[in-house]
Amino acid sequence: MRDINDYIPIVGQSVIDELKLLAAKLEGKKIQNINSTLIGGGVAEILSCMIPLLRQLGVDAGWDAIKGNERFFNITKNFHNALHGVPVEFSQDDFDFFVAMNRENAAKMELYGDIIFIHDPQPIALIEQRERLGGKWIWRCHIDITQPQPEVINFLKGYIERYDALVFSAPAYALRTGLPQALISPSIDPLSDKNKELPQETIDQVLEKFGIDKTRPIVTQISRFDYLKDPIGVIKVYQKVKKYLDCQLVLAGGGATDDPESLKVLNEVKSMAEGDPDIFILFLPPDSNIEINALQRASSVILQKSLKEGFGLTVAEALWKGKPVIASAVGGIPLQITHKYSGILTRSIDGTAHYLKQLLNEPEYAKRLGANGREHIRNNFLTTRHIREYLLLFLSLYHEGEVVRL
Ligand code: UDP
Repeated sequence: MRDINDYIPIVGQSVIDELKLLAAKLEGKKIQNINSTLIGGGVAEILSCMIPLLRQLGVDAGWDAIKGNERFFNITKNFHNALHGVPVEFSQDDFDFFVAMNRENAAKMELYGDIIFIHDPQPIALIEQRERLGGKWIWRCHIDITQPQPEVINFLKGYIERYDALVFSAPAYALRTGLPQALISPSIDPLSDKNKELPQETIDQVLEKFGIDKTRPIVTQISRFDYLKDPIGVIKVYQKVKKYLDCQLVLAGGGATDDPESLKVLNEVKSMAEGDPDIFILFLPPDSNIEINALQRASSVILQKSLKEGFGLTVAEALWKGKPVIASAVGGIPLQITHKYSGILTRSIDGTAHYLKQLLNEPEYAKRLGANGREHIRNNFLTTRHIREYLLLFLSLYHEGEVVRL
């Protein structure tokens, strides 16, 4: 169990002192976070780190996940894809089913928060309970909604507009609405198993377990097996580079309990990689934090070739480990990488392959990018900054009409 004071050597005493002061002002308020999975994906990653720290600060914070069946999660994954701009067809029945499942959850779960903090679209319709329960309601969207399918965003707006405040991960995602909106980036926890320092021995053991050769360059992408993470594109990049340079490719990730597509994507990726012993497709069980940490630390270069991305926590995780990252210029990734300063931003397979060759050939340059990236993450994307902004947001709900600086 981490202690909030353990963060002092990383972020400084004054940051922690301020968190304690802000937390004290929330005494007596229960904060209930609700999302749709306790395991897998960025939202669960953040909540699992943040809730224990909030509680240590004395904030009465809790976390519950709504339940759903296969049909529900198929619909919500389609919502997710459609909000990212992927064309998907919906029937009225899908929308009705979605609402009915939210109502069923509301009937079964305890909604106890003075502040109910809803994450992403899956539980958004719980806001229907507001009239009955009162309290303050926040909706946080972790998705890039700059080019949403109109049918879905219009449907969701019917719920969004009933909240007290909205939170988005990047300025570009803000919605036209009269509601207070906070722009709060996600964060990583530098002391979690996923991100803490590891002894070389542990890193070597993980490589050995997966049969990866530590003496040759390793190029890695960590992501759920999802089309929007473009694992197929990653293999194409690797194949282009492999003609000129000896390297290994690691594609590691699992699924999420609210993502029904991962096995299909995994099988496609596997068949594309077949016959190449230097491609490692690792379907990891949940809670493979040390393994992921070790794979990231063992990598020469880390890729994040997403086609769409809300924020991209894996980029922050890699940069925090001082790794050179080549990532697509989508969603929240440009917030994390300044091109050619703290990483590389690309827009195509050819571009990614070009820079991958360069970084593998120029390790000193690659190292400099990684070092700059680490400082950028320290200054902007650690959990302490995130907690501070959440505490201010919660407090702002009780000071309506006043300006709150985040
Ligand atoms: N992750 C994990 N296991 C996996 C794949 C991903 O623990 O098999 C973690 C990853 O390290 C990161 C988070 O899940 O912390 C993914 O967040 P991101 O914002 O990159 O993408 P999302 O999955 O939310 O789209």
